[in-house]
Amino acid sequence: MTEITDLIEKQSALTEALNQYFGFKSFKGEQEAIIKSILRKQDTFVIMPTGGGKSLCYQLPAILSEGTALVISPLIALMKNQVDMVRGYSSDDSIAHFLNSSLNRSQSKKVKEDLVAGHTKLLYVAPETLTKESTVKFFKELNISFVAVDEAHCISEWGHDFRPEYRRIRDMLDEIQENIPIIALTATATPKVRADIIKNLKLKNPNTFISSFNRSNLYYEVRPKPNREATIKNIVQFVKGNEGKSGIIYCLNRKTTEEIAETLQVNGIKAAAYHAGLDSNTRTTVQDQFLMEEIDVIAATIAFGMGIDKPDVRFVLHFDVPKSLENYYQETGRAGRDGMEGKCIAYFSQKDVNKLDKFLRDKPVKEREIGAQHLLEVVGYAESGTCRRQFLLHYFGELFDATKCDEMCDNCANPKEKIDGKDYMKMALETTEALGEQFKLKYLTDFLTGKKSQEIIAYRHDQKPNFGIGKEKDQLFWSSVLRQGMLQDYLEKEIENYGVLKMTEGGFDFIKNPQPVNIVLNHQFNDDDSAINKPQRTVALDPKLVKMLKDLRKQVAKEKKLPPFVIFQDASLNDMATQYPITVDEMANIVGVSKGKALKYGKKFLKLIEQYVEDNNIDRPNEIITKQVAKKSKRKVYIIQNVDKKISLQTIAEGQGISLDELFEEIETIVASGTKLNIDYFINDYLDEDQQDEIYDYFMEAETDDLEEARKELDDEYSIDDLRLIRVKFMSELAN
Ligand code: ADP
Ligand code: MG
Ligand code: ZN
Repeated sequence: MTEITDLIEKQSALTEALNQYFGFKSFKGEQEAIIKSILRKQDTFVIMPTGGGKSLCYQLPAILSEGTALVISPLIALMKNQVDMVRGYSSDDSIAHFLNSSLNRSQSKKVKEDLVAGHTKLLYVAPETLTKESTVKFFKELNISFVAVDEAHCISEWGHDFRPEYRRIRDMLDEIQENIPIIALTATATPKVRADIIKNLKLKNPNTFISSFNRSNLYYEVRPKPNREATIKNIVQFVKGNEGKSGIIYCLNRKTTEEIAETLQVNGIKAAAYHAGLDSNTRTTVQDQFLMEEIDVIAATIAFGMGIDKPDVRFVLHFDVPKSLENYYQETGRAGRDGMEGKCIAYFSQKDVNKLDKFLRDKPVKEREIGAQHLLEVVGYAESGTCRRQFLLHYFGELFDATKCDEMCDNCANPKEKIDGKDYMKMALETTEALGEQFKLKYLTDFLTGKKSQEIIAYRHDQKPNFGIGKEKDQLFWSSVLRQGMLQDYLEKEIENYGVLKMTEGGFDFIKNPQPVNIVLNHQFNDDDSAINKPQRTVALDPKLVKMLKDLRKQVAKEKKLPPFVIFQDASLNDMATQYPITVDEMANIVGVSKGKALKYGKKFLKLIEQYVEDNNIDRPNEIITKQVAKKSKRKVYIIQNVDKKISLQTIAEGQGISLDELFEEIETIVASGTKLNIDYFINDYLDEDQQDEIYDYFMEAETDDLEEARKELDDEYSIDDLRLIRVKFMSELAN
């Protein structure tokens, strides 16, 4: 024991031990203080980002202490690695072992012998193993120095990785030995999860070490996700602009990883897909190739990146909305580990969120509610008009001064207009207080704007004198104010209480003595169903050029006596104003433009763009050509051939395993990009000649090809589907 006291008290004694056993010259971050805490047998709680060096915080004290330290860790797959690593520092393999279901009888016998003989300093156990009666009985005979609970967030239902067996750890430990010191470690924990860990492990006044979660070298950005095709295209452009750099693109499903990997490949990028459907050999190969830089970009489902430590990943893109901010933080954390550049871009669409919400419906109630809360936070992050870094860190319980972001997020790099919100903040806080601090953000914005929701009526809050007190502003505004209130720590969200907003001390102070406060409006993401009519919004859209292109389109339309949308769709003009094409080939790569169409209508537009680029000294994105995967066009060829043969559209859809709706989308893309398709044989079954003429004539005169607009103008006489059919016919005949 005297030795341990020496280690704790003598200057540099611990550093010498570090050097002796691990060969490191100095401690990272707070490692030394953490190690001292556990050497003193005090409960210890460590929150440190991935890569911070948590393992050493229990490995070194385990080696230095008398007896065996138990390390509880959820990933059997990583245990072997860890054990090998520790053994690498010692001449005696019995220094570290693991005990889990993967060992056979003679292997576990050997482990137990080493333990009883007192050779083993570190024993890794899976929680399932620990909770077995026989294990507990065996451990009672051992001298346990302390217990390390790694990935401690697994204890909490509010973490992203809940493991029910983690909840039984404390009971088992109590049976094994009285007062075993515990060190709990995790890389992500919101304040709620932290409280759960302390409560569940019954940590006694733990010495808590929280490292900052700020990764100042990571750049955060959220981009809208208009539709699949345009998003993949945007990704290809991004990757091309970062050629030769390592990156990961996270997707929700296997098919997407493959589609993105293939599209990147045909565009000359060394890319591969990675997902659970691949056999383990292929997966290992892909990982190795990524590490060896034979592959630059991996399109992966979430499984990829765990346990691999590539320091120079330069970007992490999220094609699909992440399920929680914990997930997002952890996945983006794989970028820029060497402290250099790391770009983290998430594509966001409300449609994705709805889809994830739907998946949750099949889950048990509790899990569903937790999942929905997590999604709401992700939406809050995406919509936030203020510093993304501040938002993320706030989620993990850290107050961050947004002026220190240094333009390392899209909102700080392109700040939106700020409104002086002193009076509004006061009003929002007073309302929260007046309603008894029992409601969620949505309820409060409904109340402030005077919206009589069912819930409000049920509470009779519409009868209150100040109902609708803030109705000069809209819901977006008020939700921005309330969000800002949380970021400023005037309000606090009780997650376990399903997101109810409570006042903080600071909030009450603010009401008494209001301070100037800046409000920045949240972003609004408007999804719409139609794939081709949606303008492709990217950050670099040039509004001045869009206006000029639209004027030119109007002029050309007039000359040709055609409606403007027949010449080019809005989406195409927006894409031109982002890509600045100046040759026919480049024009043919614009959304919704075929080679034929580029030749037919493109010339004047190209000339205008070229002039504009020259006049304004614009740096065109180099190499903007994104090629589509052949597979994609195979489907289109199939459709074109079968329509030519007048096969019924239902049969064609079935043949491709897609819905009729999806088939229409394909057909619209085909037609919009310059191929004629005659579907009269199909239309004639639904509409007689007069009806067809009426709709056709309408489109001829219309300003827009919007279907809702058409339905209104035609006095609701036709269904959207009817109108859609004629629009295809119309576009096919006139636009090509
Ligand atoms: P975490 O579990 O926090 O994600 P690890 O324990 O896996 O992090 O450590 C990350 C890396 O840092 C490992 O490669 C480890 O060897 C290294 N490391 C840990 N402590 C030190 C130190 N004091 N000096 C140098 N490298 C260290
Ligand atoms: Mg670790
Ligand atoms: Zn910022």
